[in-house]
Amino acid sequence: MQIAADYHLHTHHSGDSKAPMEDMIKQGVLRGLKEMCFTEHMDLDYPECHDLPKDPFTLDIRSYREELMKYKELFEGRIEIKFGIEIGMQPSCLEENKKIVRENDFDFVIASIHLVDGADPYYESFWTGGSIEDRYRRYFDATLENIRLFDDFDVLGHLDYMSRYVFPKNDTTYSYERFRDRIDEILKYLADNGKGLDINSKVLASDSDGIPNPCPEVIRRFKELGGRIITFGSDAHAPTGIAAGFERLRDIALSCGFTEYYTFEKRSPVPHEL
Ligand SMILES: [Zn+2]
Ligand SMILES: [Zn+2]
Repeated sequence: MQIAADYHLHTHHSGDSKAPMEDMIKQGVLRGLKEMCFTEHMDLDYPECHDLPKDPFTLDIRSYREELMKYKELFEGRIEIKFGIEIGMQPSCLEENKKIVRENDFDFVIASIHLVDGADPYYESFWTGGSIEDRYRRYFDATLENIRLFDDFDVLGHLDYMSRYVFPKNDTTYSYERFRDRIDEILKYLADNGKGLDINSKVLASDSDGIPNPCPEVIRRFKELGGRIITFGSDAHAPTGIAAGFERLRDIALSCGFTEYYTFEKRSPVPHEL
């Protein structure tokens, strides 16, 4: 079966995308998707960056929801549109993040770590604050700390996200094996608490042989540790990336022992055969 649901998508409501929602949905229909879940960024306390406006990821939920509901109705019968969010976890915004989830009727919540001690691995400056191995350790430690504090999510976003942006680029420090003590703790916590993993194909949009986030070894380990819920997301910020590499993601998930993937309806998981 084809993976028919893309569960990690951004539009102009996110500070790092200019994509009109309608263009994204039309492309999803062309790609044969049955369902798309928009998961706009909400990263409170994001530091000032030279290439972004101030507070780039403070989402205007009301206008986002309004536009989404309009298209949900317009495209009814052709494609199912879901109301999601990608929340950036930081201990400093814990209460605000909880309130955001509590006060909105999201179908689906991704929790992600984009900032470690206030710095984003996307930028080179993150990598110069210690050895590369230490930086990875700190990232995984921060992930575990945050998911233990913030319970109000459905899947953990792109678990080894920082490996996308490692500096220098050809560095090979990262592998599941090297950080298995920390990664296993994260996976076990997720599995034991009924949380899922976002299997994220953003890298595959520009490199079809690239490694998704998390890498296949981590996906396999999640299954071994009792993990049940996986969602597939392209993390597309423009129409071209929608459902990128989903055939490969499906093969990887099957080879890791998964037979189902999930969509969500008002925060309840719905299984689909892979
Ligand atoms: Zn993200
Ligand atoms: Zn994202």
